[in-house]
Amino acid sequence: MKRLLSCILQGMHRGLVRYRWDRIAGVGGTLVFLCLLLVAWISPDESEADQALEHPGEASVAQTIDTPVSVPHRQSERPELQPEKEVEVEVEVLPCSCNKGVLRLPKNPYTAHQQAARNLPNSFFVKDKAELRAGKSRGNLIDVTDGRGYHIAPLSHSHALLLPEVKSLLEDMGHAFADQLQGTKSEGTAFRVTSLTRTARQQARLGRRNYNAIDGGSTHSYGASFDIAYTDRPNNDADCSAPTRAIQHVLKSFQKSGRILVIPERNCMHITLRQ
Ligand SMILES: [Zn+2]
Repeated sequence: MKRLLSCILQGMHRGLVRYRWDRIAGVGGTLVFLCLLLVAWISPDESEADQALEHPGEASVAQTIDTPVSVPHRQSERPELQPEKEVEVEVEVLPCSCNKGVLRLPKNPYTAHQQAARNLPNSFFVKDKAELRAGKSRGNLIDVTDGRGYHIAPLSHSHALLLPEVKSLLEDMGHAFADQLQGTKSEGTAFRVTSLTRTARQQARLGRRNYNAIDGGSTHSYGASFDIAYTDRPNNDADCSAPTRAIQHVLKSFQKSGRILVIPERNCMHITLRQ
């Protein structure tokens, strides 16, 4: 009996031990399963959370990336603009020459110019600055500024003054020139007046090389003449052909009608009013 009881107790003990291990294994397995479930459940949440975090992160990263990206863009836009500006600056509108090498006009002898200059009603010989001022105060010499179709170059050897009738001639020639180019790509082109009234002193300083320094006095010293050296286009939309044709046409028609005398010179066209 004792043997039987001890056997039963041992069996129970084994059974209990077995049962306990099974329980432990069962509980452990359940726990592991639950852990796995939790991990499986949590991990997508975490990734979503990460994404959710990354989105603002990405947004901020995107912004920070965008910012540097957009900054180089802007920076690259700026240099793009800068060269354009530089190009604009570099694109120079070159003047078109008006001289005997470009225009084909008959030359009126210089003696005819001198005679015409002396015969003009208000003309007088402008010996020096005092004569110039006196002539100006009498109204025999009047100021000349830019007008339609022409402009006055910066002057170093002459004064922007002319006899009243010579100024009227200049204005008429300016209108005729502007009319020629109106409605064309060369509209707005103006011819450049490079020399007007010189005192005898100014004339002497130019030296004997100048054509007008011939004995008898320059017609520039009577307020009767002006020089045209260039035509200046407003832009490069059109080349020099139209302005050159226009100034040629104006000079020729005024010369042909007998209103002006012309000397085509190496650097300019010398023009004197003929009464
Ligand atoms: Zn001249």
